[in-house]
Parts: sequence; structure tokens; C-alpha cells
Amino acid sequence: MTSKYYMPTRILSGKDCIKENSMLFKTLGKKALIATGKNSAKRNGSEKDIISALDSEGIPYVIYDRVMTNPTVECAYEGADYARAHGVDFVIAAGGGSPIDAGKAIALLACQDTDADCLLSGQYENRALPLAIVPTTAGSGSEVTQYSILTNDKAQTKTSIASELLFPQLTFLDPRYMEGLPVKTTVNTALDALSHAVEGMLSVRASFLSNTLAAESIRMIMDCIPELLGSVKRENENLISLKVREKLQHASLMAGMVIAQTGTTVVHAMGYSLTYFKDIDHGRANGLLLPEYLKLVEKVQPDLAASVLNALGLSGSDKLAVLTDLLLGSKEELTAEEIRKYSSMAIQTKNMANCIVKPTEEEIADIYTRTFK
Ligand code: NAP
Ligand code: FE
Repeated sequence: MTSKYYMPTRILSGKDCIKENSMLFKTLGKKALIATGKNSAKRNGSEKDIISALDSEGIPYVIYDRVMTNPTVECAYEGADYARAHGVDFVIAAGGGSPIDAGKAIALLACQDTDADCLLSGQYENRALPLAIVPTTAGSGSEVTQYSILTNDKAQTKTSIASELLFPQLTFLDPRYMEGLPVKTTVNTALDALSHAVEGMLSVRASFLSNTLAAESIRMIMDCIPELLGSVKRENENLISLKVREKLQHASLMAGMVIAQTGTTVVHAMGYSLTYFKDIDHGRANGLLLPEYLKLVEKVQPDLAASVLNALGLSGSDKLAVLTDLLLGSKEELTAEEIRKYSSMAIQTKNMANCIVKPTEEEIADIYTRTFK
């Protein structure tokens, strides 16, 4: 079988990378929309750095700072209306995966009139505004993927828009924006990245390139675990060094490059219901579910599981469960009825086609049950 690799985003990284590369914004357009969440971009310095860079290049801008976590389809339409009303011709998204994904959908919708059903079923014209991304968490990898994941109330789940139009032109990685990132968000996002890398290795679309990136991303995240455990134990984000923050940022980027090629698997498909119905954070949902899926892989395809466990530096998937238990603390409760409903939704997702080890609906229910026992 042939394999392919495509990732067209230019990546700038390191302290002050926005300031030092401000001229690149000029290559994207003449007026910017800055898309952010309500608070964090104002507090962590990313918005200020973007504005200074735009000012220094004489580029006018407007700010849309109404993106919520797990952004809705409505939010994307509202942001696109705002972009059009102000005549912007490129988008800069700053924040975690939520503002990044909303910014991508805004960039697409600002160029066309299409209703939500068409948007979510892939029917739109081949046009989007150029995108620059400033991630302030280390988890989604959305800064290098072609996906925008929106909360879809009609289908009661999260739906991914996937298009090469959504690959950002530019990504700026400055680890300092994460210095105040709370312990919980740091852990949840790190586990999202870990899940991307592991799921990438368990995908039918894995290739030698994606596996190389995934294995290294997993190793880098595992190197950070001792510091993360220390910060969880003492509930103090200041115990996470800038060096570890940077390593997580790079590992998350690499895991994003992986899922841009491989897609995600049943773990993400199962996690969407936990987020939609139980309000469980996206990364936490994946971190909770990953060990039990890996246990199934270990049973059905031990060689495949061994390659992942080798990268994790663990002797078995039960050891991963011990680690995620320590990182994630006490678990939520799921009823038998909820498990039945979420399993029947997960089995119908497109993600199932990506799984090398395809669980049955009963096995999916079993993964939920064992995870939340
Ligand atoms: P997020 O939802 O973007 O942000 C979570 C929280 O962290 C928000 O309250 C945010 O505040 C805050 N925050 C962000 N950066 C901060 C910082 N530097 N310091 C302090 N607080 C900060 O979280 P996320 O886990 O990064 O993203 C999750 C989303 O990404 C989900 O919607 C998921 O579906 C998506 N995702 C997308 C892809 C993809 O390829 N497109 C892949 C995986 C996940 P504010 O609201 O004030 O900013
Ligand atoms: Fe994810």
C-alpha cells in the first residue's frame, strides 16, 4: 500500500517568535480578525504580542473574543458575520483548541454562504481566508491539522469539518503563553496529545512518517510525566517548568502532524459523547478511555500494542491505567443506559474505519464500563 504525507503549515517556534516574524502577517492579508476565548489570551500575553506585531506592520485588526470551550456551529457563524462586517481578509486564532477550531470555521464561512447542514456534510466552496495560529495549550494539535471540530447540537455530538483549506498558513509556538496554564488543563491537553499520537499508531492510515512522529511525541510526553504528577499532587501549575511546557508544546505539535495523516480512532469517537452529554473535558475524556482501548488492542494484536508500549516505556497497558488514574483523579459516573447510548453512537462514527483493531458495539460498551467501574 502507498502512503502519503501532507502538512503545508509554516511553523515558527521559540520565545518572541511572533515579534521576530511579524512581517509574515503581511503575506496573509491587509486586515485581520483575531479570534480568541473570553479571557486567557488577554492574560497570557498572546493577544498583546499579536497586536504589537500587527501594529508594527501597520495591519489593522478587529477582535472576536466570544469563543467558548467546545465551540458551537452558531459561534462559527457569528464570528464569520463579524469578519465579513469588518471586511477582514485573514484570521489569527489564539488560544486552545477551541478558539483555533472556531477560527478555522470562521475563515471558511467568511468566504461563503452555506447553511450548517452543508457545512457539516462537507458541501462548501473551495475558499477560505488565510489562517495564522497561536496555540496557548499543548494538546489539540489543531495548529497543524486540517480539522475544525464543532459542537453539533442537531446530532448531539462533536462534528469534524475536514478540509485542506483549513491547514493554517502560519503557526507560532511560544511556550511562555502557557506559563500560567492551570494544572488540570495542562494534564488534560497533554493526554489529548498523547491520545492523538497513540491513536495515530493504531490507525489503518499510519505510515513510516506518522509512526516516527508519533513514537517520538509519546516519548516526549512521557518524559514530562514526573513533573506533571508533582504538579497534580501539590495542585500547583508553577511547578511545571518552561522547559517541560515547551516539550509538551512540541510533542502536541508532532501529534497533530500525526492525526493530520491518520485521523483519530474509536477513543476520540467515544470521548465525544462524554464531552457532549457529561461535560467531560475533551482531553480528559480521551485520557480516561485510552488505557482500556489499548488493553483490547493488547489482547487482539499484541505486536501492535507492543510498539505503542515501547514508545510509552511501559510493560503493559495496565501500567498506563495506573498513570492516568494518578493524573486524572476520581472519575465521573456513567449509567448502563448512558453506556448503551454512547456505544451505539460511537460505532456509527467515521472514526471506526480508521481503527486497525475495530471493536464491536459490545466491546465499546465494555471499554466504557471498565473505564468508569
Ligand atoms: P480550550 O477549550 O481551547 O481551552 C480550555 C480552557 O483553557 C479555557 O477556559 C481557556 O480560556 C483556557 N486557556 C487556554 N489557554 C490558556 C492559557 N495559556 N492560560 C490559562 N488558561 C488558558 O482547550 P483545549 O483542550 O486546548 O481544546 C479543546 C478543543 O480542541 C475541543 O473543542 C476539541 O474538540 C478540539 N480539538 C481539535 C482538534 C483538531 O485537530 N482540530 C484535535 C483535538 C482537539 P479562554 O476560554 O478564556 O481562552
Ligand atoms: Fe483530540
